[in-house]
Amino acid sequence: MLANEVREKLIAIVSRENFEDSKTERLVYSYDATPNFQSLPDAVISPRNTQEVAEILKVCNEYKVPIVPRGSGTNLCGGTCPTEGGIVLLFKQMNQILEIDEENLTVTVQPGVITLDMTNAVEARGLFYPPDPSSMKISTIGGNINENSGGLRGLKYGVTRDYVIALEVVMPNGDIIRTGGKLAKDVAGYDLTRLMVGSEGTLGIITEATLKLIPMPETKKTMLALYQDLSAAARSVSKIIANKIIPTTLEFLDQPTLKVVEDFAQIGLPTDVQAVLLIEQDGPAEVVERDLQKMAEICRQEQAVSIQMAASEEEADALRTARRAALSAIARLKPTTILEDATVPRSEIANMVQAINEIADKYKLDICTFGHAGDGNLHPTCATDARNHEEMERVEQAFAEIFSKAIELGGTITGEHGVGAMKAPYLEWKLKKEGIAVMTAIKQALDPNNILNPGKVFAKDSRKRVVVTR
Ligand SMILES: Cc1cc2nc3c(=O)[nH]c(=O)nc-3n(C[C@H](O)[C@H](O)[C@H](O)COP(=O)(O)OP(=O)(O)OC[C@H]3O[C@@H](n4cnc5c(N)ncnc54)[C@H](O)[C@@H]3O)c2cc1C
Repeated sequence: MLANEVREKLIAIVSRENFEDSKTERLVYSYDATPNFQSLPDAVISPRNTQEVAEILKVCNEYKVPIVPRGSGTNLCGGTCPTEGGIVLLFKQMNQILEIDEENLTVTVQPGVITLDMTNAVEARGLFYPPDPSSMKISTIGGNINENSGGLRGLKYGVTRDYVIALEVVMPNGDIIRTGGKLAKDVAGYDLTRLMVGSEGTLGIITEATLKLIPMPETKKTMLALYQDLSAAARSVSKIIANKIIPTTLEFLDQPTLKVVEDFAQIGLPTDVQAVLLIEQDGPAEVVERDLQKMAEICRQEQAVSIQMAASEEEADALRTARRAALSAIARLKPTTILEDATVPRSEIANMVQAINEIADKYKLDICTFGHAGDGNLHPTCATDARNHEEMERVEQAFAEIFSKAIELGGTITGEHGVGAMKAPYLEWKLKKEGIAVMTAIKQALDPNNILNPGKVFAKDSRKRVVVTR
């Protein structure tokens, strides 16, 4: 629990109505979208402005109270579970779109703005913010920036990092800094904006962000390619890109995923095929038409059994929505859903899909696989039950092998969901001891008292490397 002195100081900053430490409120913020990391915070605080955030950080730094910044808590790495207690910092009152600048093509927002609200606001002005995590209806921009989130349009347009051009950040000692600007070019000093993006709330609190916008693409078209062979679908992905076509979206869903998504969305998805690619292109009408024809031809050459073009924008939207619902659909199957995001070079997609299936068989688990195939970013997802300890042991071993395989293929343990508490023990596999030492030095320099999201990213113990045996 917070010492009385600290509690009184924090209440004096935000006022009583923005400070909660009832058991119910603490329980609500004890978990996020990740299973198995639930832990109670000591208090939940909702600052109204940057100055209040700075004052809170000064107090917490003085008394060494952990701070867990939290947007909507949809992260999938235990990133907002207060595993070391302390306060949860909520941005529900800092949720304004401050400016849409049509001359510089930027939008400036507070961290608590919901991603879709911002996307809709800029689209109403004919502008486009491409990063579109499937959780965009509920996720916040602060969360997107701190996880460097991707989405269905990542292949062509990149991820959140590629659109963050300026930040206001409160440092652990309460200093307020501004990084970047509304600038196309800026090499003045270290790139602190990029350092903050993806830092998972461990280096500073983002209180304002300026994001780059682009003009809305003229048209878009969507198609499905159906396969009876998983490897053929995966090969098509590599071949489309090798043919120098970069579609907006190139998503993969295997049969188990198709079945649960169709059961959930009821939009007539094919469930009698082994895999589907959801492919979309946007841009000038003639380019879209040409690319779609070319991609359909490549898919047929790679044994697609059928190509289905979406007949209308409504139909295309239903397909995108169904894909975005994959996690929610799988989550209906069993009490616990473990979703991972092993990522490999695009050329290794076929090998990775095959390895995931072999590992699922080896550990006798049902693993649905879907994901941003064009980015090499797969989401093997296991519906399980945390109460079944024997099965959870197998799940853990299977995912360790999946991460190991991804690294072996030149990939990484997470493409977009972040490290948090969940993948911290595996980070050394990717970065090696020397890489972790550099990150530790940065963390210690900026947050010497380790008050910002402690227990995340940096593991107390790293996992031993799994040797994949088959
Ligand atoms: C159904 C579903 C679908 C998803 N689909 C995708 C997807 O397609 N692509 C993808 O990349 N992810 C996806 N995710 C994961 C998740 O939605 C993203 O990571 C998202 O960006 C998190 O946003 P949030 O507001 O919920 O942030 P939170 O979960 O609340 O926080 C995320 C991290 O940011 C930190 N943080 C939040 N705000 C601040 C701030 N102002 N300053 C400093 N640190 C802060 C937190 O401490 C935490 O470490 C999905 C999750 C779900 C449940």
